[in-house]
Amino acid sequence: MDLSRFPRRRYTPFVTPLEPLPHFSAALAATCPDGQGPEVWIKRDDMLGLFPGGNKTRKLEFLVADALAQGADTLITCGAPQSNHCRITLAAAVKEGLKCRFVIEERVPGSFHEDASGNHFMFRLFGVEAITVVPGGSNMAAAMQLVADELASQGRKGYIIAGGGSNAIGGLGYVACAQELQQQLFEHGVQIDRVVVGSGSSGTHGGLVAGFLGNHIHIPIVGIGVSRDPADQQPLVLKEAQAVADLLGLGLTVKPEDVTCVGGYWQPKYSVPNAKMVEAVQLLARTEAIPLDPVYTGKIMAGLIGLARQGFFRPGERVLFLHTGGLPSLHAYEGEVLGRTPVAD
Ligand SMILES: *Cc1c(COP(=O)(O)O)cnc(C)c1O
Repeated sequence: MDLSRFPRRRYTPFVTPLEPLPHFSAALAATCPDGQGPEVWIKRDDMLGLFPGGNKTRKLEFLVADALAQGADTLITCGAPQSNHCRITLAAAVKEGLKCRFVIEERVPGSFHEDASGNHFMFRLFGVEAITVVPGGSNMAAAMQLVADELASQGRKGYIIAGGGSNAIGGLGYVACAQELQQQLFEHGVQIDRVVVGSGSSGTHGGLVAGFLGNHIHIPIVGIGVSRDPADQQPLVLKEAQAVADLLGLGLTVKPEDVTCVGGYWQPKYSVPNAKMVEAVQLLARTEAIPLDPVYTGKIMAGLIGLARQGFFRPGERVLFLHTGGLPSLHAYEGEVLGRTPVAD
């Protein structure tokens, strides 16, 4: 598929590494039925550019190129108080000489603190121009439009980026990832049986689904929900994948069976730590020295571990875990991840 007709900025000057996780796989297998588990590999999208990068880096390559083409001087986006997406959008803005403003949704009441660490600290360090805090459940699109209107009244031009950078243009980032992975598997001579990915605002999961369909990659994808169970998440991913497929002009209908979602690992609430997340973060850190984050990748890996223990994967099945980043928020939850601060079950 030819992506070269879409404007794109480049924020990662290399292909993210694809690595086996032998110690992690052995430790996991020891806890699975009959001591048999999957052979787990990882794609290090936590090493993407705009350090410390993550999946938002890939989406922003296309979104920021579009903002620049439209003559914008300010990026406007939204997220939670520890939003990786906001921090990486700000990093892209700084790199491009643009200003950046956020609307922060306090999904957990009282969770926004001016002096917070993690991503919030980096908002300050990288010099965000303004932050508007709104209560959970607010109309985020309307709140961002207000910011854009205010800029327009000053003769400036804002470019609104949807939450998580998940729209058709942002999803192209994960079509590009699908193509990168396809080439990489060919070059390494590695076959993968399944991909496990996080599923939140759905640009990553949906973009990958569209990219796999468009490139005839027949590897099943499992999306682990970070904020919704399948009944709510699957339609969102389907809609995103279809929007990306339409933008690409693939002329195909994404079918419900193309989108597999798994729930049960994000509870009690988006971003609130749980015991399975803590186990997953500690296990990967102590077997492979790779940090996961508490809000997303820790819960996504908990999903992979849980599926392995239920016998969802065939013994020896090669499962690729897509590490989508999130490092800074680990520092906002140090006590929980080290087991010093109690967490939910
Ligand atoms: C945003 C994010 C996700 C979820 O990706 P979506 O495209 O929003 O579904 C997963 N992991 C990390 C670290 C993220 O920041």
